[in-house]
Amino acid sequence: ATHFVVEGLKATIEGKEILKGINIEIKGGEIHAIMGPNGTGKSTLASALMGHPKYEVTDGKVTLDGEDVLDMEVDERARAGLFLAMQYPSEIAGVTNSDFLRSAINARRGEGNEVSLIKFIRQMEGKMKELEMNPEFAHRYLNEGFSGGEKKRNEILQMMLLDPKIVVLDEIDSGLDIDALRIVANGVNSMRSEERGFLIITHYQRLLNYITPDYVHVMMQGRIVKSGGPELAERLERDGYDWVKEELGIVD
Ligand code: ADP
Ligand code: MG
Ligand code: MG
Repeated sequence: ATHFVVEGLKATIEGKEILKGINIEIKGGEIHAIMGPNGTGKSTLASALMGHPKYEVTDGKVTLDGEDVLDMEVDERARAGLFLAMQYPSEIAGVTNSDFLRSAINARRGEGNEVSLIKFIRQMEGKMKELEMNPEFAHRYLNEGFSGGEKKRNEILQMMLLDPKIVVLDEIDSGLDIDALRIVANGVNSMRSEERGFLIITHYQRLLNYITPDYVHVMMQGRIVKSGGPELAERLERDGYDWVKEELGIVD
């Protein structure tokens, strides 16, 4: 069964410590949400987990099914089943969305186990329909000229096709109107399974009206300072973050 463990993770950007010891454990079937004010290190956590070169991990341990994730290159992490939807997906000129998707899927499946072109197209078209994406997006260059909402839907399309074990979604809800939010949430919910765990990073509780998390963690100043169930997200929506700071004596 899927088991993802982050222990005492510390990371710096340009010498400045941003993550100050993050602990989180995700089992297959679980959805964890991380909420927190802007600038607390949520995106840094996502990037550090994926191995972004800008972020230096200085301490801690990350394992997926017992394997050392921090030891892996970015592509090895993807192959091991880690998926990250970034807050700001990058554009790749000259590579079409469908070419990108097919090579990502084949990299994940491994040599000798590549998906056939016909099967890939059938799967991609099916998922695009589910996400109410215009079929022409298959042939456009990756994310080039996509609107914010189209990029987010495209990230979910990648997630659905890659069949990862651990999914990290960084502010997948930002910039989405209510219809796009519902479509993205349906995509996530359709991928819920006992074999898969989710880490959903969000600034707003709104997304969690559509995707019910099992656990909610509050992140502040590079640490998870409070954990609870969905009711914690509701309280944050109602009362903001100040009460958490007061309760814990955090001064900023
Ligand atoms: P969040 O996602 O919670 O809003 P971030 O992880 O994006 O927070 O940022 C955490 C802190 O790290 C902030 O103080 C931010 O200014 C800083 N930071 C993030 N990315 C960079 C970067 N590329 N270079 C320098 N500082 C950065
Ligand atoms: Mg931010
Ligand atoms: Mg962020």
